Amino acid sequence: MQEHDILALGLGITAPWRLVEQRLDVSEKPHVLKLRLEADRGAKFPCPVCGRSCKAHDFKEFTWRHLNFFQHHCEITAKVPRTKCPDHGIKRIDVPWAREGSRFTLLFEAVAMTLVREMPVTAAAGFMETTDHRIWRVMAHHVSRAIAGLDLSDLKAFAFDETASKRGHNYVTIFIDLDRTKEPVVFATPGKGKETVAQFKAFLEEHGGKTGNVVEVVCDMSKAFLAAVGENFEDAAVTVDWFHVVQKFTTAVDDVRKAEAKTVKMPNATRWAVLKAKENNLTPEQAEALVELEAGGFLTATAWRIKEKLRWVRGAKTRRAARWRLTHFIRHARQCIGDAPAFESVRKAVETVERHFDRIIQRWTSTHTNARLEALNGLFQAARARARGYSNTETFITMIYLIAAPIGNLLKST
Ligand SMILES: [Zn+2]
Repeated sequence: MQEHDILALGLGITAPWRLVEQRLDVSEKPHVLKLRLEADRGAKFPCPVCGRSCKAHDFKEFTWRHLNFFQHHCEITAKVPRTKCPDHGIKRIDVPWAREGSRFTLLFEAVAMTLVREMPVTAAAGFMETTDHRIWRVMAHHVSRAIAGLDLSDLKAFAFDETASKRGHNYVTIFIDLDRTKEPVVFATPGKGKETVAQFKAFLEEHGGKTGNVVEVVCDMSKAFLAAVGENFEDAAVTVDWFHVVQKFTTAVDDVRKAEAKTVKMPNATRWAVLKAKENNLTPEQAEALVELEAGGFLTATAWRIKEKLRWVRGAKTRRAARWRLTHFIRHARQCIGDAPAFESVRKAVETVERHFDRIIQRWTSTHTNARLEALNGLFQAARARARGYSNTETFITMIYLIAAPIGNLLKST
């Protein structure tokens, strides 16, 4: 076996392609191992459309970056023919070592895709000694291909929520299949309005799903979302995720605190103390702040106590008990806040809960585990971190799919 043959074997090239030249270019830093491939003279090539064996019409030279050869970069150059097929005309053929349009070999892409599953993209790009931008393009290709092949014919229940690709702008709405415990994300799309639900419906139908099979939808209490679900999934029961109920009251407590802090001196550490759940690792300062708030008759303490009472509602074991507790909660909250203007935000939260009473209670009969949307938040954070330095709507969506969509071995699908 010749040295050329060994390298050719490593590259996975087959007839009619041969490795005809290899040299280490020391004029560049790092040095580049340059490999040249050629097809046998007079060889025929399959038409990329029909596979018919055709003569080469003409050639054009391309270069691909391959995996590093020890500490050196490695490049492959070849003249790639266009075939002249009687049925399909003149077409550039596909080469076995790279996909169309890529400047990397498939092996290089395979390694890149393995790395980005384990580390932030910037780190993977550094390791591969290429740019973030190029790695993102490789990811976008393989991820979108895998997503295009998703089979959603079993989908019966889904949840969705919106988040920002960066703090405060560029919203993305993410849909998860509630029956998938691992890798639940099946669709992500830019935007946060009702049109995202219509887009999901179209996507579902393109991937073998049926809207009529969807029995449950879990979402938040936004009017636009609820209207969109009603229009697009009319047979589905709508469940409001408990997480969103708590979120409403948490925001309300914070509003009360902010307003109150402008008029009186609040105990130190109040801010985080009232946002955290009571039993959730309060620091001694935070615990003390709560005691002081209560003792001092602060408005914030009243709002906080209302929020904390949600925990008692949540603990209900049956739908009936939950109905009773939530009714009691609403009445009690109203008594506490009276008509004081300072509690306007809490009052709104109570009204929202009342308006969505049945959808909230639905969670006690839902067959799907709750807190799934809450888990999504962790996913959003991870995706943002992994896309850091290069975060826009597209890269964020690609990363969410990569981390949490059921797309398995990405390169097998190429
Ligand atoms: Zn053809």
